[in-house]
Amino acid sequence: MTASTYEAVIGLEVHAELLTRSKMFCGCPVVDSTQAEPNTAVCEICTGMPGTLPVINQRAVEYALRVALALRCQVAETSVFARKNYFYPDLPKGYQISQYELPLAQQGWLSIDVGSGEQRVRVRRVHLEEDTGKLFHREGYSLVDYNRSGVPLLEIVSEPDMHSVEEVKAYATALRSLLRYLEVNSGDMEKGVIRFEANVSVRPSGSETLGTRTEIKNLNSFRALVRSIAFEIERQSRLLDAGKTVVQETLGWDEVRGVTLSQRSKEEAHDYRYFPEPDLPPLHVSAEWAERVRAELPELPDARRARFRERYRLTPYVASILTAERAIADFYEDALAAAPQVSPEKTANWISGELFALLNQAALDIDACRVTPRALGELVSMVESGEISAASGKAVLAEIFQAGGRPQDVVRARGLAQLNDPQEIERLVERVLQENPQQVQQYLDGKETVSQWLFGQVMRAARGRANPRVIREVLERALRSMEENPPTA
Ligand code: ADP
Ligand code: MG
Ligand code: ZN
Repeated sequence: MTASTYEAVIGLEVHAELLTRSKMFCGCPVVDSTQAEPNTAVCEICTGMPGTLPVINQRAVEYALRVALALRCQVAETSVFARKNYFYPDLPKGYQISQYELPLAQQGWLSIDVGSGEQRVRVRRVHLEEDTGKLFHREGYSLVDYNRSGVPLLEIVSEPDMHSVEEVKAYATALRSLLRYLEVNSGDMEKGVIRFEANVSVRPSGSETLGTRTEIKNLNSFRALVRSIAFEIERQSRLLDAGKTVVQETLGWDEVRGVTLSQRSKEEAHDYRYFPEPDLPPLHVSAEWAERVRAELPELPDARRARFRERYRLTPYVASILTAERAIADFYEDALAAAPQVSPEKTANWISGELFALLNQAALDIDACRVTPRALGELVSMVESGEISAASGKAVLAEIFQAGGRPQDVVRARGLAQLNDPQEIERLVERVLQENPQQVQQYLDGKETVSQWLFGQVMRAARGRANPRVIREVLERALRSMEENPPTA
């Protein structure tokens, strides 16, 4: 048997830090843990001193509600915080406050598109917890930074609904995009604000029962996520091929060697001795509160993507790249609003083509872009109306990308306005034909390719600024009339 006779089954647990100002259970600020001086945003609560009491951060609950509602989950009116007990130096209390039996929300879904149309990945649960500190292993000793300890963390657990790395990548990308739309997470993967754990099993194709799964911990990038799952699918398939069984265990990912490594046998829930957190009351979310949060949700990426396809006639591909970021989608619609007569399709192409290329080259986000939506709309409009050529349009865009400003001003300053006047172009054509009698004769003798050369001469005479369509029309007309009344040499 080969690997293709197995079906992969994948479920994802995603941890996302919430962008609140203060931590989950104390007043310490949430700081960028890759920048701040270690242990400068800590207090007796988030370092677990005896005799201290946690207080629930209301804003963190509100952010969690945004995500839960955007994922179409059912929100629990009452959820309960629990202690998850384990010992590790990054967890000073000896337990993590999390939610276990009664999570904040359950049974939602996220829509993904892997090119074969939209499909749903079900979300099993969404719950609140606190992040741990960070360890730095040195030679012979370790350092610990508690700045991250107690930062609000949202855990989003999917059903095992994915069957390929492409689906996993689409799900993870869509979830990151959603968190950014909701303004609850920066999406800065390299800062560790979103982390994944992947549960992977394989089963004979056609089988309905789930195979034994392994869990890959601490995946901090899309690349690690995709590579580790691909490796694991292959490894498990080979084991089954050889008549062996998969051992349920927790794995780590070795980025350098590109292999998963056994960390420990899978822990069970009872290992954590979960019990309700005695220092916190149950969390109540009234129907009114949930409704208020729901009413304030922005248009979500999937709805916006569908609207872009429908209203602006964009292809699924272009619609999805223009809606991947809220700021890009806003930029696009602002550009359309600034120049209502332009084609939505052409504007989309200028953004996804030329503008994205400039942004990529400069490694800039659209927020930092000097081209305003209005300037882009005006530029597309000038190209479409023939005021400037497409090539000049690109040059103008590059210039305002560097220096800002309005396209009209650059066109005037650089003398880029396109020559469209047929009479002026006729004069140029006549001059070129008079100056090149030999080539004209070749054309009349049947060498048709010469017309292309003549076209080039006219364009040169216009210093590259003439409308090519008009030149072609005028030149063709002039040559045809010469064929009918050949010049008497
Ligand atoms: P825990 O990791 O705490 O044991 P769960 O049992 O709820 O939690 O499962 C966690 C994740 O594993 C979920 O995303 C779920 O979809 C996924 N999962 C469960 N069983 C399988 C399986 N046989 N194959 C792949 N994924 C699975
Ligand atoms: Mg797990
Ligand atoms: Zn604190």
